Amino acid sequence: MVMNKTDEEWKKELDPQQYKILRKKATEPAFTGKLLHNKEKGVYTCAGCGTELFSSDSKYDSGSGWPSFWTTLAKDKIVEIPDRTVGMDRIEIICKNCGGHLGHLFDDGPQPTGMRYCVNSLSLGFKKKDAK
Ligand code: FE
Repeated sequence: MVMNKTDEEWKKELDPQQYKILRKKATEPAFTGKLLHNKEKGVYTCAGCGTELFSSDSKYDSGSGWPSFWTTLAKDKIVEIPDRTVGMDRIEIICKNCGGHLGHLFDDGPQPTGMRYCVNSLSLGFKKKDAK
């Protein structure tokens, strides 16, 4: 992890919902995220530190209720961690730069990768691509 902020610092900096998700690994209720149906062209960033994580080009509607992507902008920006907390074998995904919880990675995504990066909308920011 590159950033080393204390829990207190994160608490001050993030809004309470984002703090719970990014720092305490909570999950937002399905179908509530602001970015779930966002179809604009642009880049999705980590809401904790601003690192660019996903492109709108790999976003798709998974039907899960959370923003879903079939690939990342760069694999080395995301860390995959085995997660057995709900009695299921899952892979948690976190931002490598700030350690913020993003969501989970599943292998039921579309081709060409077959992967589904299932991400909390509240873990993300969005930078719209300038229309030219
Ligand atoms: Fe981050």
